[in-house]
Amino acid sequence: MFPRLIVGNWKMNVPTTTTNLFVAQLAKRVSANVPVEVVLAPPFPFLSEVGSAVAGTSFTLAAQNVFWEEQGAYTGEVSGAMLKSLGCQYVLIGHSERRKIFGESDDEINKKVKAVLHHDLFPILCVGESLEERDAGQTHHVVRVQTLAGLQGLEKVDVSKVTLAYEPVWAIGTGRAASVDQAEDVHGLVRETLCEQWSLAPQFIRILYGGSVSGENAGVLFQSDQINGALVGKACLDLDAFASIIASTA
Ligand code: PEP
Repeated sequence: MFPRLIVGNWKMNVPTTTTNLFVAQLAKRVSANVPVEVVLAPPFPFLSEVGSAVAGTSFTLAAQNVFWEEQGAYTGEVSGAMLKSLGCQYVLIGHSERRKIFGESDDEINKKVKAVLHHDLFPILCVGESLEERDAGQTHHVVRVQTLAGLQGLEKVDVSKVTLAYEPVWAIGTGRAASVDQAEDVHGLVRETLCEQWSLAPQFIRILYGGSVSGENAGVLFQSDQINGALVGKACLDLDAFASIIASTA
């Protein structure tokens, strides 16, 4: 079993204090006695700065996106090698905002997962259904298709390096988190899918929940052993809220 993983997705935001101060204050609040892995995912231009700030803490660094090519005429894109050189360990892939606003397809997401693994980085593959899909009873179908498509063509050894993040689209940024039952239901499906397709042992599959995780609801969510951590948006730039989410893993 791994320790719980808490990832703070800054999206296109930065803390109101300097990043150095933010990281130092957060580090002070995270008890060394809590076995938890904390990952910060700032926007690209802040990776270097946050990378320096987390050196000497137990935190690690993630990027919010990547392009699958190594180099060339791809204006605006960033490669896995570039992220690696900045000290990233994880890369978020297939976040619903990327799928919806930037039109990322499952095929492109799969290429990104492969590129990240190629550079010895760890992908965090986001999957999740929209409200319309949930209401139409399609949640399992949608999440299964996204999971299988995102991991298509990978060997078992590589799938074991991927963290999945179940993020129902209707829960992201809405203040309406999934219930433990809803999250457990989909985490169970994802776990079963990976066990079936790649014969992975269930305890070695790490699945985060994301969508309006807060200092108030994290403790309840983490009572479930199916929920191996959280991907946190809004609350991750609020020191009190993020520290409280991290502390709730104990
Ligand atoms: C996210 O965007 O990954 C997310 C979970 O956002 P929020 O916590 O704000 O719902």
